[in-house]
Amino acid sequence: MDIASVIRNVPDFPKPGIQFKDITTLLLHPEAHRQVIDTLAARYRENAPDALVAVESRGFIFGSTLAYVLNVPFALARKPNKLPGDTVSESFALEYGTDTVEMHVDALQPGWRVVIVDDLLATGGTVAAVTRLAARLGATVTEAAFVVELPLLKGREKLAPLPVFSLVSFMVE
Ligand code: AMP
Repeated sequence: MDIASVIRNVPDFPKPGIQFKDITTLLLHPEAHRQVIDTLAARYRENAPDALVAVESRGFIFGSTLAYVLNVPFALARKPNKLPGDTVSESFALEYGTDTVEMHVDALQPGWRVVIVDDLLATGGTVAAVTRLAARLGATVTEAAFVVELPLLKGREKLAPLPVFSLVSFMVE
């Protein structure tokens, strides 16, 4: 089925000028949800990564199921001050101000090859920061996977040379 057709566009959310790509409508279609997971699982089943790292919060929705299907460890990259154990953190620039992501210091083992999962690639700042977190833990990110990519925001270029995989692209800024 056409995944793009079940992703709702919400203009001017959360602020004027943003075309918010809402995946909650996709999740209401089991066939589309299954197609997302099956497509990602097919891509990573052979030569599966040592772990998946998913980004709070919509990355958790897809990452958790994918980790279950691939039968690999599932590590969380969270917003600040959510994780109870010892953490590493990385900040990154937003249009206005900065944001931060954190991981538990023992979430990844040195030498692991991991794939990052999030719902959407915009500027790439979030996943670039998660890539730095994984590197600080001694892991290597082999690919970043997204349901949606907004190519005009050039996240793929920002993440290069890291390979990027996405299921759907929308030509909006
Ligand atoms: P970025 O770091 O710019 O690649 O932004 C990616 C993060 O922000 C993802 O976790 C997305 O869920 C969220 N995000 C950014 N832009 C949008 C958008 N237009 N629609 C929905 N989510 C977005």
